[in-house]
Amino acid sequence: MNQSYEEMLNRAYLSIPKKAQTHERFEIPRAESMIQGNKTIVRGINELIKTMRREKKHFLKYLMKETALPLSEGNNQIIINGKVGAIQLNRLIENYFKQYILCHECGKPDTNLTTQGGVQTIKCEACGAIKPVSM
Ligand SMILES: [Zn+2]
Repeated sequence: MNQSYEEMLNRAYLSIPKKAQTHERFEIPRAESMIQGNKTIVRGINELIKTMRREKKHFLKYLMKETALPLSEGNNQIIINGKVGAIQLNRLIENYFKQYILCHECGKPDTNLTTQGGVQTIKCEACGAIKPVSM
């Protein structure tokens, strides 16, 4: 028996049951943040934005509006010019998902933000539901 490593890997892979399409509830990601002096630094935002499937500037605009604080971004982080606690920040992210990403019908995050006749709407790719949004 002289099994190559690759064969072993293949065997291990094949023994995994065919991908069970579980429709788990979408988990809203949490941001890692820290307060430095009078500033709040939110880290790893590229990953967060990728999960959102929204334009970064849309999320930044939302954050700025909700915190009423100026902010800047760069180097995979957001720097908020003020103190925003981790709980408050994650609540804002949660609300962003609820308002602009998650489908109000089926709760899935597979939605697109589009403008129809001057009105911003989110359209769900999974069930087709459309909801107008304010920003
Ligand atoms: Zn839906």
